[in-house]
Parts: sequence; C-alpha cells; structure tokens
Amino acid sequence: MQFEELSRLLEEIDKLSGRTDIISLLSSLFLKLGKEEVGPASYLLLGKVAPDFEHGELGLGEKLILRAISRASGATYELTRQRYSTLGDLGLVAAELATRGTTISLLEYTREGRGEHGKDARSGLTVIEIYHALKKIAATSGEGSQETKLSMLTELLSNSSPLARKYIARIVSGDIRLGLAELTVLASLSKAFAPDDKEAVERAFNITCDIGLVASTLANQSAQGVRRIKVQPGRPLKPMLAERSSSIDEILRRMGGRAAFEYKYDGERVQIHKSREGTKIFSRRTEDITGHFPDVVKAANTKLSAQEFIVEGEVVAIDQESGRMLPFQELMHRRRKHGVEEAMSRYPTRVELFDLLFVDGRDFTKEPYPKRRNRLVQLLSPSEDMAAAEQIVTDDHDRAEAFFESALEDGCEGVMAKTLSNKVGYEAGSRGWAWIKYKRDYKSSLADTIDLVIVGGFHGRGKRAGKIGGYLLAAPNGQGRYETACKVATGFSDEALVEMEDKLRSYVTPSRHPSVDSRLEADVWYRPAIVMEILGAELTISPVHTAALDEIRKGSGLAVRFPRYTGRLRTDKSPDEATSTQELLEMYRSQLKKL
Ligand code: AMP
Repeated sequence: MQFEELSRLLEEIDKLSGRTDIISLLSSLFLKLGKEEVGPASYLLLGKVAPDFEHGELGLGEKLILRAISRASGATYELTRQRYSTLGDLGLVAAELATRGTTISLLEYTREGRGEHGKDARSGLTVIEIYHALKKIAATSGEGSQETKLSMLTELLSNSSPLARKYIARIVSGDIRLGLAELTVLASLSKAFAPDDKEAVERAFNITCDIGLVASTLANQSAQGVRRIKVQPGRPLKPMLAERSSSIDEILRRMGGRAAFEYKYDGERVQIHKSREGTKIFSRRTEDITGHFPDVVKAANTKLSAQEFIVEGEVVAIDQESGRMLPFQELMHRRRKHGVEEAMSRYPTRVELFDLLFVDGRDFTKEPYPKRRNRLVQLLSPSEDMAAAEQIVTDDHDRAEAFFESALEDGCEGVMAKTLSNKVGYEAGSRGWAWIKYKRDYKSSLADTIDLVIVGGFHGRGKRAGKIGGYLLAAPNGQGRYETACKVATGFSDEALVEMEDKLRSYVTPSRHPSVDSRLEADVWYRPAIVMEILGAELTISPVHTAALDEIRKGSGLAVRFPRYTGRLRTDKSPDEATSTQELLEMYRSQLKKL
C-alpha cells in the first residue's frame, strides 16, 4: 500500500470520535494492507517502529521536526515555528507548508534531485518504505546523529505529498496516538483477523508487549498462530496489577477468608529475565533498564539457580550504614546513563522478589500464586542484595493487621494481599482483585494516593508570580483521552516548582492537547506525559471537571478535593497507567458506602 493511501484512511479515522467507529475503520484498514504490512503499520499507528523494550519509540524532538518541515518545504524556520504556535499540531504545519507558497523549493527539489529512491516528490513511498526509513532514523545514534536524523527526515518529507507529510510528522512526534491507544489498535486487529478470539489476542499482547509481532502473526496465521505465541525470557510481560482496599476484613472476604500478605516495598518494580542471550531488566513500563542496575543483574545471575527464568520484584534503596530501606526517591539517583558505577556504590539496592513467571522452558503464568512463590523460594539463595518478599499466610484479621504494622515500621508503604485460589494465575496486564494493596494514610481520608497526569499549568500569584504556581491534572479514561480531575497548588516547595517547570518545558504545546478533555482554560498546556502523585481529602462531584463525566450526575465529573502533591513524580508510570477515571469512580462509590 502506498503511504498516501494509508494517510487518507487515517484522515477518515481522525474525523471519528467514537471508539467503536474507530475500531471498525481501523480493522477494515488492516484488511486492506498486504500481510507483510500489518505489523509495520501497527507500530506506525502507535508512533513506533519496534516494541518499547527494543527502544522502538521514535520520539524525535519538536525542534528537529520543525527544522525538517522547514527544510522540506522551503519555508523559513521562523514561519514554521509561528505556524506551529497557531495550529498546535506538527502534522498540520507540515501539510500546510507543503501546499502553500513553497512551490519554489519543491520545484527545485524535483528538478534537481529526486531523492535517494529516485522518485518524483509526488509519487510517494509505500508503507514499508516509510517504515524502514523511520527505523533507520530511530537506529541512528551517537555523535552527529541529530544532524543525520534531520537530513533523513527532511528527505522523507520531501518525497511525500502534503497529506503524507501530515502523518509522517505526527508519527515521528508521537502524536499519531490521538485517540489511538494501544488497546484500540489491538481491538481493531482482533476484529479484522480473529473476531471470536479476542481473549487469545489480548493474552498474546500481554505476554509479549509487542504489537507488531501480534499483528503480523494474526495477519499470517490468524488466531491459531496467536495461540502459539509463548512467554519467552527476553521479552517482557505486562505487569499484573492490584486493586486497592482500606480494610483487612474486606480483603479477607474477597479472598475467600484466607490470603497471603506480603510487604509492599516502596521502590521500583522490575522484571528480571535471564535467557541464553544474557540477563535483562525491564521496568514496569516494559522498558529495558538493564543499564541502570548492573548490581541487580549480578545478583540475579548468582543467587537464582536456573539457566533461564523470569522473576519479578521490587528494587529498594538501602542505607549503607544501617541496611534499612530508604524511601523511593533515593532510588531515582540510579536512573541515569552515566556514572552508574559511582551511583551503585553510593546508593546500594536490594531486590525483594515477589513472583516467578518462567523457569527453564516452563511457563508458570497459568500456575496459582502459591506454586509460583514456592518455586521462587526453591531457586533462590537469599542474601543481602536479593531476597524473597516478607510474607505470611493467614485467615486472621489481627495477625494481618500486626503484619501490616511491622511492614510500616520496616519502611514499607503497606501490604499486598494475594489470592491463594488455584484458579487464578499471573494475570499479565490486568488489574483485578487477585492482588489487593492495603496502605493507610493517616493524613487523609482517601485511603490511597492517586496518580494523575499533568495536562496544564497556571501562573502563580504573589510570591509565585512569574512562575507556574499550580497544575491541572487529569485521569486517563482507558480510551486514549485524559479527563481533568483537579487543580493542585499545594505541597510544592519553591525549588520543586522551579524543577517541575523545567521538567515540563519540553512537553509544552501551543494549545490544549487534542487528547485532553477540559472545561478549564489553563495558562500553559502540556502534552500528557508526566504522572504526579497526590493525596486528597475526598472525591466530590464537580461541574468544572470532566473525569467520569455524566457517570454519577449528568453534566458533572468527579474531582479530588484539597489535592496535595506528595513530592513524588511517578516516572515508573506512563500517562495511560495513571489512576483511571474508572478507578476514580470506584473510589467515589466506596467512599459513599463508608458514610
Ligand atoms: P501501586 O504502584 O501503588 O499501584 O502499587 C503496586 C506496586 O507495588 C507494584 O507495581 C509493585 O511495584 C509494588 N510492590 C511492592 N511490593 C510488592 C509485592 N510484595 N507484590 C507486588 N507488588 C509489590
């Protein structure tokens, strides 16, 4: 398929807003593609060229894209920037500048050189050609790579029609995702190739985190092929997630009267994979973070006696003198590319393992939790730097409460309860009642902190004049949109405000990001990217906010009352993993029950 045709279909999809309509059109798009194009197109639709764990995200800087658009169209950089401030979408800028007033350069371009592929600027490239060109751009690194990426992107744009430029610019900026969440693409693939096997498709994705692999398997081998996709060390699984509760009694009730309780460590979740190719560490967002933790790699290689495995645990920072656990923030010193060795000796860690998913050719994800834990304990020679999470199994309320108290004393956030049911395995990628987190926050009547996405900023007044003094926060609705839930302006030190503003600078957009639903006008808008942890007094119904709009009361959404920044950014969560509008609804309902 010509990329031009794909762009025309994307243009159609762009006009739709309902998820069902989008899925229908996308699935017919997949059926029109050649079999070998389905995988590459699936990556492109998500603004990638490979799965995240292979560093497949393009995410080119805004400035570089603007420069490429300017060069390809012959418009000055100033004009390109100006149009961007007005239009707020790099795709629109690329398309507009390609059509107006820039004929001279285009003419010159077509007359003088016809690009690497010897094609006329108007004839365009195929989907596969675009995919390979973008892959090449993504793979370019090291000294001088910015300049190389710039000329490659310029060439690509120059070889494309205005419409194709629009979608190339959106893909490379990551903005193709407007309304196109991973799950929407997955649902469309199911509809196209395996309408009766939606669950098998979802599982294949949850155990591989590779949309391109699932897509091309579906296109070539339909549902049968997808069922043959296996858990494989070296390829991360989506993490299993927990519901929350503020009562041990409720937890025991939900778990059939008896449960395992584990310390809930305050660190960073890691999935450790050992295969013939070596040992790798993946973050909760399934990114490869092996480089941050050479000490964890070493511990895994020496303390776990198997040739191949996948285990999961929490890395915690440890105080060098006392050996006690330190808060999560200390671990952030380890998130760096350079000086890892030095950071390793200054900020030692320990891994508390809490799950096992695969050992020596055997997939454990369908096994019940007690079996997985037993196998984990068998494999492990516990030491200072690697241990199995503290655990008790009980049906007794008081024992569980006492265990929770000792977890807090030992520097944990609370406890995680886990079901003993032999019907439940490791549910990759899903949040359910098989795991329940129990944290108590004495400062707040909301039982837990909430993680929301920063989508806007407000100018400060008085002492904070000239700075951003507060932020507009939103919750993901599970369908690629962000719905606002509060404005937060407390809990920030002056330094924290300055740091935050710096951090957010590269996410500023000239107007409200198209994926954000807001009734408030912010002074500055941000692309949803950074997740902030807050505490609130309670959830209320609000006509001003759009979170879970109309769900409780027509015309109103839900809002967090008296929100307060806890000082912690959840860099381990992507924006669509923040507390969802669905979770807010559940929290609101359980709050009502307690009254
Ligand atoms: P939250 O991030 O607040 O939704 O809490 C869930 C997180 O707690 C998991 O993703 C893990 O990173 C972390 N965690 C700490 N200890 C455990 C444990 N024993 N079992 C499972 N998750 C744990």
